Amino acid sequence: MGTTKKKSSSADKGSWTSRAVQRDIEPGSIVDCRHCGETVKFQAKVRLRQIICNVYEKGKWVRVEHFHAECYQTAGEPHGAADTTPVMKHRGRAVAASA
Ligand SMILES: [Zn+2]
Repeated sequence: MGTTKKKSSSADKGSWTSRAVQRDIEPGSIVDCRHCGETVKFQAKVRLRQIICNVYEKGKWVRVEHFHAECYQTAGEPHGAADTTPVMKHRGRAVAASA
């Protein structure tokens, strides 16, 4: 039973690759958008999103890039489609007490 299926690894050789996630812009954000150069600024009135990209080159992390969500689309998603899965917050769900 030791037939472990090989993953179809074309470019991916188990190394890290650049990836992008979508997150809410947090108050106090002071990063500049890689695309338009403007600050990715938190605004209380509008719930803006930012794209945070961990950029890897040759399997090594090199930097983080920030984009306005819109700009990332405009830029043609340079680091692939952003993961829009919301971060699951552990709300300390009461564990069913085994009485
Ligand atoms: Zn921008």
